[in-house]
Amino acid sequence: MSYNITLIKGDGIGPEIINAALPVLDKIGKIYNHNFQFEEILAGGCSIDKIGEPITDEALEVCRRGDAVLLGAVGGPKWDNLSGNLRPEKALFRLRGELGLFTNIRPAFLHHALRDACPLKKELTDKGIDLIIVRELTGGLYFGERGRYNKNGIETAFDTMPYSVAEIERIGRVAFEIARKRRKKLCSVDKANVLETSRLWREVMHRLREDYPDVEYSDMLVDNAAMQLVRAPYQFDVIVTENMFGDILSDEASIITGSIGMLPSASMGSTTFGMYEPIHGSAPEIAGRDIANPIATILSVAMMLRYSFDLETEAQAIEKAVVEVLNKGYRTGDIADKESVVVGTREMSRLVCESIN
Ligand code: NAD
Repeated sequence: MSYNITLIKGDGIGPEIINAALPVLDKIGKIYNHNFQFEEILAGGCSIDKIGEPITDEALEVCRRGDAVLLGAVGGPKWDNLSGNLRPEKALFRLRGELGLFTNIRPAFLHHALRDACPLKKELTDKGIDLIIVRELTGGLYFGERGRYNKNGIETAFDTMPYSVAEIERIGRVAFEIARKRRKKLCSVDKANVLETSRLWREVMHRLREDYPDVEYSDMLVDNAAMQLVRAPYQFDVIVTENMFGDILSDEASIITGSIGMLPSASMGSTTFGMYEPIHGSAPEIAGRDIANPIATILSVAMMLRYSFDLETEAQAIEKAVVEVLNKGYRTGDIADKESVVVGTREMSRLVCESIN
């Protein structure tokens, strides 16, 4: 089969981690006889520097024409002082919004070999961490109306968090379906004791749960969820939540599984088209040094094969290869301990490729 993938390397460590993931796709293509075709576009700071905007309409059109997008990361201090519409992150919001990618799937799994990299007590990690955060991606606080005004000489800013029933329902259904294929537990995270949006969120979720009697459903306030993730993470199977809560909780989930450099993500709409990226940012302070962990990006490639191309065997081959390399003791610096063999970005990629068979 032939698949068209749009590549967005982006800024900071983005080019390094994408360059580390491409040989993995090449190896999968050779072994399983697939033809992966690539078209590269600019987005983020590099696009601002070259073209004057974070992403162009033409670049978005290239994404729309393809079967999936593989993204490194965008942003960095160089562009931090630009105004909202000119910031690198604007590229991400346009990609998510204009490609209709309303679901962000973020698995957090503690590999046996990385138990020592987890900052939690051994009694907790012995029970395992294997959860998925389903984050709403095109609504809520990050997409609501915002602005600044001046009242009586005092500068004030505001952001709003709107959600419609339809938006809550479509993300809710995705989360229930994912839970159904796993351990059948869904926890919906909100702030219903304070926010009207959360009260509507809860009402819709409660209506939906009638359609999924086989899924054990619970509600949790976001402040409690932040605490429970470090107190007893093994209790979670699937968590569904709004955009900003999901952004924050998934970073927290990443650190209890070893490093932010380990966690992949998939952003999906209502078709098999998806955008795949590590959950971390462009880590500008380590860019260009061949020390970034490429595993989150390599595992994002596995998610792309699974969710967009329906290539489950190939996805598992990548995941198995990553586990094998970790079991042999190879680590990038962010997940290394005293006994590890510390390797760089390129070498980690080579080792994973070597282990795919
Ligand atoms: P970050 O995720 O880039 O870095 C957080 C910490 O984790 C840093 O210490 C970094 O060195 C480390 N880290 C991240 N990825 C790593 C990897 N693969 N291997 C080893 N260590 C890794 O977050 P930040 O520092 O808050 O943001 C840096 C820039 O990235 C900002 O401009 C921000 O806006 C942008 N950002 C982009 C995305 C995206 O493109 N999706 C997401 C988050 C942040």
